[in-house]
Amino acid sequence: MAGAVMKPELTIGPAPIPTWFQIGGTAERFARIDSLAQLRTALDIDPGARTLGDGANLLVDDDGVADLVLALGGEFNQARIDSATGAVHVGAGYKLPKLINDCVNVGCAGLEALAGFPATLGGCIAMNAGGRHGEISQFVQRVHIIDRNGRQRTLERADIPFTYRSSGLGDTIVTSVELQLQPGADIAALKLRQREIMEFKKASQPLSASSAGCCFKNPTLMEAFQEFAPGTRVGAGLIIDRAGLKGLAIGGASVSPQHANFVVTTKDAKARDVIALLAEITRRVHDTCGIQLHREVVIWSRHTD
Ligand SMILES: Cc1cc2nc3c(=O)[nH]c(=O)nc-3n(C[C@H](O)[C@H](O)[C@H](O)COP(=O)(O)OP(=O)(O)OC[C@H]3O[C@@H](n4cnc5c(N)ncnc54)[C@H](O)[C@@H]3O)c2cc1C
Repeated sequence: MAGAVMKPELTIGPAPIPTWFQIGGTAERFARIDSLAQLRTALDIDPGARTLGDGANLLVDDDGVADLVLALGGEFNQARIDSATGAVHVGAGYKLPKLINDCVNVGCAGLEALAGFPATLGGCIAMNAGGRHGEISQFVQRVHIIDRNGRQRTLERADIPFTYRSSGLGDTIVTSVELQLQPGADIAALKLRQREIMEFKKASQPLSASSAGCCFKNPTLMEAFQEFAPGTRVGAGLIIDRAGLKGLAIGGASVSPQHANFVVTTKDAKARDVIALLAEITRRVHDTCGIQLHREVVIWSRHTD
């Protein structure tokens, strides 16, 4: 037919939503997306579609979600690393730990500072993930996105309102990322640094338990708290610990005795246990320390948002 536009087929069906909590509800409609054309089709079908990364900062409510859930693979799972210049162009579905290894192995320095946590590059940008050794926004040159109307855009670093644990990119979908790393670094030194950071994390965090890492953002104090002056950013884990909440449990969810900002779950935990525990932590920290915590972990629910 003249003028007909062929749309790429999508296979859409119900599926579990894999998260690092290893609990939670399912997607009524789930699709693996391998190309930009498929992504546009998906957004035509459901402009409110949700993008799943590695599920490392995500809790899905027990009742699951009705929106289309998209998992990026195919062309979003590719990386080009120019070891001579340190320029990296990587798809949003590519796993951060793999990219760190790829870069370290060709002597491109920078990303080893982000060793020791799971993510896709898309999720990492969305969350501006990082920690005491650095955050992803330090290395960003450009981010390629698509908006809910299927319009593609390339954003320069200076135009992206990154802040602590946020990209400020709203509901746009990251499709790929350009990073600038330092080329020509000593590979053995990079591997050592990567190992040291991972060892530090293993010693201080319950990495073998099911969790989403830190559940709350580290607050900047409005008023003095114990030895900390107003304006200081203090670890939420330290505050939760000082509030005496290590070990607090609701159903199969509990505050890790190793790191109080980690909520860990048993296999039979319900997402509602985690949600109730997060609310209880927030309430008790506010009541005992006068500090308002804000959630870092993202919750998908058909009942809120
Ligand atoms: C053991 C453990 C340790 C952790 N340690 C850290 C740490 O040290 N520092 C840290 O910052 N985080 C940490 N986290 C949390 C998590 O690793 C990061 O937040 C990570 O960036 C999440 O990426 P993801 O791909 O898993 O995103 P998901 O959890 O799948 O999604 C998180 C959010 O990002 C959105 N998103 C995903 N992909 C895209 C995309 N392509 N475009 C737009 N939005 C997208 C989702 O819709 C969702 O809103 C830890 C988690 C675990 C389980």
